[in-house]
Amino acid sequence: MQVLGLSSRSSRRSFMKAISTGVIGLCTAGKGAATRTKPSVVLRKGTKQATPIFQNSAREPGPTALIIGGVHGNERAGYLAAERLARWKPTRGETIVVPRANTVAVANETREANGDLNRQFPIGERPTTPLARALWGLIERSQPDVIIDLHESSGRYIDGKLGQSIAYPPFEGVRSRVSQLVSRQNRSIDRAENRFHPRSLPRPSERPSGVLVKRAAFEQRIPAFLIETYSELELTDRQRYHESLTKGVIQELSTRRGPHDGIPTNNGWSPYDSRRMSTLIDQLP
Ligand SMILES: [Zn+2]
Repeated sequence: MQVLGLSSRSSRRSFMKAISTGVIGLCTAGKGAATRTKPSVVLRKGTKQATPIFQNSAREPGPTALIIGGVHGNERAGYLAAERLARWKPTRGETIVVPRANTVAVANETREANGDLNRQFPIGERPTTPLARALWGLIERSQPDVIIDLHESSGRYIDGKLGQSIAYPPFEGVRSRVSQLVSRQNRSIDRAENRFHPRSLPRPSERPSGVLVKRAAFEQRIPAFLIETYSELELTDRQRYHESLTKGVIQELSTRRGPHDGIPTNNGWSPYDSRRMSTLIDQLP
C-alpha cells in the first residue's frame, strides 16, 4: 500500500490534468460528446469493465463533484441521468462523472456483475474487487468535495423500501439542507406516495456494509449522497429527478461563501479543508 499526502486542490488539479492527458495509468478515450466536455479517460482500460470518465470544469472556482451512475446495471434512470450530467457544465467548480460504473452489469441489465459492486467498499479495508479498487482510487486521487451516487428502488418508500429518497451523511446541518431540496423537488410531484424523503445513511455498524457512499462519508468525511428513484414511475420523470436533485446538491455546495457557509459538517471539517490527508488504497486503474 502506498500512502500519498494529497494535500490540496493543486494536487487535485494536477491529478485531473494528468488523467486528462493519460499519464497516470488511465488512457485517453477520444473527445467528449459535448463541445465543452473534456476528453474522457477510461477506468479499467483494456478490460471488459472499461468505462469512461468525463470531466467538466467551470471558469469560476468551486467544489469538485463526483457523480456515479450504473453501480447497479438494472437501475436505468441512474445511469441515463449520469450520462446527461456528463455533458452538463456547472457554473462553478467541476464535475467528474462515471456514468456506467459497472458497465458489464449495465450491458446485461442486471443488478450485479462480479458480485454487488455496492457491497465492495468495506470501511477501513481494501475494496474487494479490481473494479471497486479502481473506483476508490479515483476518489482518493480526485478528492471530491461531494459524491452523488444514483440508484433506483423496486418499491415505494411508504412500503418500507428505499422508494424515492436521498440518503445523506449525518454531518451537522446536512439534514435541513437536504429537506429543503426535497421539499422543492416534491412541489412537482402530485401524488404523495411518490414524493421524495430524506434519510440518513446507515451508520458504519449498521447494515448494509460495503456501500461506497458510506465509506466515503464515514471514513473520508466527504459529503456523500445516494439518490434513489422508484423504478415503476415514468423513466423520463425518474431521470429528471436524478438530474435536478444532483444539481441541487452541487448548487448547495457551490453557493458557499466560506468554509462555514452552505452545508456545515461535523467537527468543523470543511469540504474546502486543504489539510486533509488521504490514503491511496491501490493504483489506478
Ligand atoms: Zn442500486
